[in-house]
Amino acid sequence: MNPKWNGQFSCFDLVARTKEKTGEKTGEQFRTIVQVRDIEIGGNDFVVMAGPCAVESESQLLQTAEAVAKAGARILRGGAYKPRSSPYAFQGLGVEGLKILRKAREATGLAIVTEVMSEQDVDLIAEYADIMQVGTRSMENYALLEALGQCGRPVLLKRGMTATLEDLLRSAQVIAVAGNAQVILCERGIRTFETATRNTLDIAAVPVLKAVSHLPVIVDPSHAAGVRSLVPVLSRAAAVVGADGLIVEVHPCPEQAMSDGNQSLTFAEFRQMMTDLQPYLDLQQESRQLRPQLLAAGGAD
Ligand code: PEP
Ligand code: MN
Repeated sequence: MNPKWNGQFSCFDLVARTKEKTGEKTGEQFRTIVQVRDIEIGGNDFVVMAGPCAVESESQLLQTAEAVAKAGARILRGGAYKPRSSPYAFQGLGVEGLKILRKAREATGLAIVTEVMSEQDVDLIAEYADIMQVGTRSMENYALLEALGQCGRPVLLKRGMTATLEDLLRSAQVIAVAGNAQVILCERGIRTFETATRNTLDIAAVPVLKAVSHLPVIVDPSHAAGVRSLVPVLSRAAAVVGADGLIVEVHPCPEQAMSDGNQSLTFAEFRQMMTDLQPYLDLQQESRQLRPQLLAAGGAD
C-alpha cells in the first residue's frame, strides 16, 4: 500500500480500507460485494451494464434490452431523468421511462440501473430501479447523497468530471454515513486539457480505488471516449486493470439517438466487444491474484 494513499483516504472509514480491513490479519483482502438480485458486483464476475443513454420509447428499450442480454450484459442501463446541459435538449421521459424500464426487466430478467438527479425523486425511482445511478454532475449533490442513504437500493456513484479520487470517496462516505454502504464507484473520465476525447479516462483510478477502498469499481468507457470507436479498447483496458465491470451505451440506431449517439455502440458492435473482451477478462483473473504484489510495489514510491 502506498502510504500516501493510506494517509489520504483512511478517514473515510466506511468506504476506505482501514487497518482492520486490509487483510493484515487474515491475508484475505476484504471487499464489499454488492448483491443485485442474483448478480454479485465486486466479486469474481465481471458485470456488464449496457443500454441506451436515454429511454426513448418502448420498442427502442425492449429491442436494446434483448440484444444486450443476449450478448452477455446482466444489467440494463437507460436514463428516464436526464441531466442535460442545454434546456433545449431531450430531458427524458420521466415516470413513463421508468415504466418502460420495468417492462424491459420483466421481458428479459435484466436488472435495471437508472439515474436519479433529485432527492425528491428518490422514492419513486427506487420503486423501479435495482441500482440508483448518481451522475457526474450530481456527485456533490449532498441532499441527494443523503437521501440515498435510506433508499434501500445500491448506488452507482459516478466520479464528478472535476473530482479527485478523494472527492469521490468523500461522497461515497456521505452515502454510507447516511445508512447505505452498498456503493459502486464508477470512473467515467475527467476533464483535462485534452480535447480529442470527450473526457480523459483516468485508467489508474481503477487500481488506486481498488487499493484504497473495498467498494466495487466499474468503468464507463462511453462517456470517457465520446466516440464509439474507442469504447471497445477502453473496455479491454478496464478489464485488464482490474475493474469489476462496465457501463456501456448501446442503441439500435445510434445516428438517431436523442442523446449520446456518437458514443453509443450498435448491437453488432456491442456483441463483438463482448466477444473480444473474454481473453482480457482471463488476464484480469491473473491480475487479481497479482494485486497484492502490485500494491506492495506501489508502496516503494
Ligand atoms: C449517462 O450515464 O448517460 C450520464 C449522463 O453519465 P455521466 O453522469 O457520467 O455524464
Ligand atoms: Mn449518456
